[in-house]
Order: sequence, then structure tokens, then C-alpha cells
Amino acid sequence: MVDPQQTVPPLPTPAAQPDPHKFKRRGVLFVLSSPSGAGKSTIARKLLAADPWIDMSVSVTTRPIRPGEVDGVDYHFVDLERFREMATSGAFLEWAHVFGERYGTPHAPVEAMLSAGRDVLFDIDWQGAQQLFQLAGGDVVRVFILPPSMAELERRLRSRATDSESVINARMDRAAGEIGHWDGYDYVLVNDDAQACFERVKTILDAERMKRSRQSGLIGFIRGLVR
Ligand code: ADP
Ligand code: 5GP
Repeated sequence: MVDPQQTVPPLPTPAAQPDPHKFKRRGVLFVLSSPSGAGKSTIARKLLAADPWIDMSVSVTTRPIRPGEVDGVDYHFVDLERFREMATSGAFLEWAHVFGERYGTPHAPVEAMLSAGRDVLFDIDWQGAQQLFQLAGGDVVRVFILPPSMAELERRLRSRATDSESVINARMDRAAGEIGHWDGYDYVLVNDDAQACFERVKTILDAERMKRSRQSGLIGFIRGLVR
């Protein structure tokens, strides 16, 4: 496996932001992970629709496209040879084997979003969250979403009706292992009701944006205040 830390340059310092909370600040790298089917894509869609300051990192994958998915929107779908070339040339911030396929986060779009003063949303697994955290530490906020029960997780995988029986079984087999990585996250939520879960995720993002350490423009305001 290519070590992304050896091939990828450090992330740029995120630029000044058109900020919902007034001051310039560092961009947030906001990671949503969950066992497949727990609802992270649903929550991500709601967040992107509701929040104008965050953009999605579109991953590259070797897995087949699902009905309804759009190349370049849901993923960049590539073959194994292309994926290997990208990994070797250092195009990924992180990448991992998931369900026998490869998934990776391309570096350049993330850099462009941060430089444009945006926050970035990642739908990646625990391996990706770990690698991203090693690269960008304090800029990364990691949220893990749990299903209310394993029975409900299986029901959701079936209700999505996008995977074959064998893929659903493989995803259920992996779910316990993925849930075992809950302690590598800053926040852990149960997705019982999708709207309520989305609102909790939005609250976390808003609060993280207000962290003193991210608000690089705060000092100028404070100086003006007490002049
Ligand atoms: P993931 O991205 O984690 O694999 P999805 O967002 O695709 O999961 O959700 C899997 C299925 O479960 C979808 O059909 C989605 O509409 C449904 N779903 C998501 N959240 C909930 C919820 N809170 N209650 C019921 N169904 C949900
Ligand atoms: P799916 O095939 O259901 O879209 O995704 C399967 C798993 O791969 C999910 O847990 C998803 O979060 C993860 N994943 C998607 N893109 C990436 C990526 O770029 N990097 C990593 N590490 N995981 C990813």
C-alpha cells in the first residue's frame, strides 16, 4: 500500500473564510463515518443542502456504480489500474481497502476548497478518518453515526435496494468491526430519526466553527474592542 503521508505534501493553512460567525477562521475537515447503511449519506445530503459553507469531498473508488449514482458527483468511478496510478503519484490524501474495493480522497479538490475558505465534508471510513487525522490533526472533526440496532441496520441496507444479497451480507458482516472503531471519533451519535440526527450533526459543526483555536480573526476584533 502506498503510504499517503510520504507522498502527499502538508495541507495548506486554510484561508480566510466568509464566515457564518463573523471572524476569519481555519476551515473544518468534517468527517462522517458509520457502518454502511446507518445513514451517513442521508445526513451528509441534508447537511450540504442546509449549510452553504461546506462542500463535499468526492472520493475515487474502484467499486461499480450503483443505480442512481452519478460519476463525478457521488464518486469518481475508476478501474484498478487508474486507482493504482493515482495512489502511486500521490494524488490521494488517504486511501483504503473497503469491501474488497479501493476508496480514496483526492488531494487537490480538498486543497482548493480550503484555499477558497470553505469547510470540507468527508464520507469516509475509520481508516480514512485515522489517516486524515494524522495529516491534519486539529483541523479534523470526526463524527461517528450508529444505527439504533443491528436489525434496523439490515432493514435500512435492504430498503436502499441498491446492493445484491451477497453485498448486503458482506456489509452486515463488516458492521460489527466498523462499530468497534467508535472510540477513534470525537462525537458518536445514534441515527434513530434522520432529521433529529442531522440537527445534532449541524449543531456539532456550528459549535466546532466557533472554537477559539479556529477563529484566527478573533484577535483583531478583541484588539478593536478593548482599544
Ligand atoms: P450510508 O450512507 O451510511 O450507507 P444511507 O444514508 O444510504 O446509509 O442510508 C441507508 C438507508 O437507510 C437509505 O435507504 C436511507 O433512506 C435510510 N435511512 C437513513 N437514515 C434513516 C433513519 N433515521 N430512519 C430510517 N431510515 C433511514
Ligand atoms: P459505499 O460503497 O457504501 O459508498 O461506501 C463504503 C464505505 O467506504 C463507506 O464506509 C464509506 O464511508 C467509505 N468510503 C467512501 N469513500 C472513501 C474514501 O475516500 N476513503 C475511505 N477511507 N473510505 C471511503
